[in-house]
This record gives sequence, C-alpha cells and structure tokens, in this order.
Amino acid sequence: MMNKNLYIKTFGCQMNERDSEIIEQLLAQEGYIPTDNPGDADVILINTCSIREKAEQKVFSLLGALREEKKRNPDLIVGVAGCVAQQEGEQIRERMPHVDLVVGTQQIYRLPEMLQRLAGKVTTREIATNLESAFAIPPFQKLLKDVAPSPAPQNYRRFVTIMQGCNNFCSYCVVPGTRGREISRPLADILEEVEILVAQGIKEITLLGQNVNSYGQTNAVAGQAVTFPGLLRQVAAVGGLKRLRFTTSHPKDLTDELMRCFAEIEILCPHFHLPVQSGSDAVLKRMNRKYTIAHYLDKVESLRRYRPDIALATDIIVGFPGESEADFAATMELLESVRFHSSFSFKYSDRPHTRSAGFADKIPEEVKSQRLTAFQRRQDEISLERNIESLGNVIEVMIEDSHAAAVKARSGANQVVHLSSSPVDVYPGDLVMARINQAGKHSLKGTIMLQSTRR
Ligand code: SF4
Repeated sequence: MMNKNLYIKTFGCQMNERDSEIIEQLLAQEGYIPTDNPGDADVILINTCSIREKAEQKVFSLLGALREEKKRNPDLIVGVAGCVAQQEGEQIRERMPHVDLVVGTQQIYRLPEMLQRLAGKVTTREIATNLESAFAIPPFQKLLKDVAPSPAPQNYRRFVTIMQGCNNFCSYCVVPGTRGREISRPLADILEEVEILVAQGIKEITLLGQNVNSYGQTNAVAGQAVTFPGLLRQVAAVGGLKRLRFTTSHPKDLTDELMRCFAEIEILCPHFHLPVQSGSDAVLKRMNRKYTIAHYLDKVESLRRYRPDIALATDIIVGFPGESEADFAATMELLESVRFHSSFSFKYSDRPHTRSAGFADKIPEEVKSQRLTAFQRRQDEISLERNIESLGNVIEVMIEDSHAAAVKARSGANQVVHLSSSPVDVYPGDLVMARINQAGKHSLKGTIMLQSTRR
C-alpha cells in the first residue's frame, strides 16, 4: 500500500472535530498519513460548518483559493465534508468544478471507497449527501481496537459521540437539516468505545451530541431503555477514567435526575454548558426554544443546589429578528443574575432553509454589533470576577501540555490554568493539586502543590 498525505481543515463544533478524527482513523487504514502542511497533501479535505454565515463564508473562500492549488497539481484531490457539504452539495458541485468530492455528515464512512475510485480515476467526481436514519458509527470500534496504546501527549482526552441529529427545530438552526433527525447510539457501542479508549490511556472523555440530555429518546437499537443520566453513570463506572464531561444540552430536557449526577458522580466535572440564547421570553418563543427564563433560572438554582461550585457556560444570540431594546435588556439582566463563568455570543445571521430567515423584522447590523460588544464587555468583567473567586484556592487540575516552560492545565470547571513551577515531573493527563495565585478573564495562574490522590 502506497502512503499518501492527508490534510484536513476543520471548522465549527466539537462534533466536526470528532468527525475529522474519525476520518483520519478511517483513512489511516488506507495508508493516508495526516499532514499539517496542505502543500504536501495528496488529499485536502475541508470539514465544514454552516451554523453561522461567517463560518460558511470562510469555507467558500478557502475552497476558492484551492482552485489555484489544483491547477498547480491536477492529481490533488479536493474534498468537502460536514454541514456545508450536506446543505450545499449540489451548489458546490456546480459552482466549484475543482472540488472532486462532496461528502455529507452521515456519509463519512464511505470516504475510503470514494477516494479509491477517485485515485484510480474510476470516476472524476464523487458526491454522497444522503441523510440516513440509522446511526452511522459501527465500524469505528474495530478501528480503535487496531490502534496500539499511545503515550503521545495529546492522547489523554477524547470525544465520544453518543447521538447524532436533532429534533428540536429551533427557528434559526440548520442542524436538523444538516445532521438529520435525532438518533441515539447503542449503549453497548458507547461503553465499548470508552473502555477501549481508557485501556489506551485516555483519562478524560467528553460525551458529544447536539442534544445529549435527550439521549435514549430515539434509539438506534430497538428495546434499549437507558436515559442520559443512566448512560453517564455507566460511563463513569469504567475503571481508570478520571474525568467525564458532556456537551451540548437543551434546558427543556434537563431533568432533576441529571442534575443529581453532579452531586453523585465524582468524576463528572463541575462545568455545564447550558445554552440559553436570549433573556427574553418573547424572543425565546420566536426561536422555538420551548422554555421560559423563569424555567431556565429554576434549573440554574437546582444545579447550584446539587453542586454549589458548578461553573455555568452558555450561548447567546444577539439581534435575533424582532429583538427590541427591552428584549436585549432582558438578556443583560439574565447575565447579571446568573453570572455565567463564560459564554459564546454571536450576532444573529440568516441561515438557509431556517424559519427565522423568513422573519421580516431584521435588526440592523450596527445595532447587532453594539449589542454584541455590550454583552461581551460585561461577560469579560464577570468572567474575571468569577476567576478572582478562585484566588488562594488549591484546586485539582489536569495537565494539558507540559512541553512549555510554563505548564498548561485545566480545572474541572474548565478554566485554563498556567502553572509556573513543578516539584515533580508531570505529563498530559496527570491530575495535580495547584494553588491559584493570579486570575485573568480567560485563564488562571498557579503553582503545583502536589499530585492529586486520584492520579
Ligand atoms: S437544539 Fe436547537 S440550536 Fe441546538 S442543534 Fe437542535 S435545533 Fe439546533
């Protein structure tokens, strides 16, 4: 088998990052070696995101630039995967004749055969964008089993996909169209994957899905009866796993049983990303979010009762169609009352085939920009205040990078912690106790005190 170089550029969310990892592993079996240099690549694959207009524009400008590369090297295979491929497959084919391959979100398992046909000149173009209703992961366990345990520094944490798609149809969101309807992966497959990863030295697992807390409502396996809290408990019981996280959750599916997990599962990190999107009930209704702010605040209070040190993160969209000054003021009020540790905030943009793209009362760009700046400025202040609360504390952190002069680590609450000195050798994936002595808005600084007893 002749080795070939594969360059993947990934845009967007953790689901896409995970898909890129799967693609790398699938193609490694075919002799493709990952490269960081697109100039060396035999195959360039852009794994795309269409959740915001800006991300999609970046994809198209990168694809435009690859036209020249393809002229220089006609044997180069240029492919597009992910949400833009899913949504705009035909358009890409028409607008970009230099793109050889378009593969949708649920068809990445077909990449080896598609590439074989292209490399063997059996076909000149490949497109596969069907959205299937079955969970598309089965071959992956076999691939993992073939991978030897690796001491490589970045191999201490991994994402594990537990579901795909979404049934919520928020009025602004492309996901039900790009990832299909919600379907939960078989429990046995998830546990097997986690066990294999932990046996290979993985210390931290993040369970991934568009709406993880509705796991188990639509199952890939008939008769499987397990809820997300049940899954969390079973994954947490895998011996050797040190940290467990999950993302993303919908407030309407956040049950008391799930909140209780934060009090009862020791390795579940005290960090919860709970997207609220707006502080206004009127806007939430138009977004089709199916909860009110009173409902959301109730959940926040319960979460903090179960786990007082939990760090909350959220997503905010400013300038949704029809968002009045009073609606935006309600978002700012919500920020003051919850005091999120961090947030991802964006200006609303119309996305193709979404309901809100058809709403008439769009907000002018400069108003959206002003609102975003005001929100982010206040969030930065609150994030700093939250980080200052950690000063003087001794907390458990997991080492992420021990190459640099200052060691980088992460707290259970998801804060980046730069560690200035270490009395012992530390490696990625090690848990250590650190005293926090400086706080910034995006990170903390501290000193290693001793290794954690959970090391
Ligand atoms: S919950 Fe709403 S925003 Fe999240 S993926 Fe589903 S439709 Fe999109």
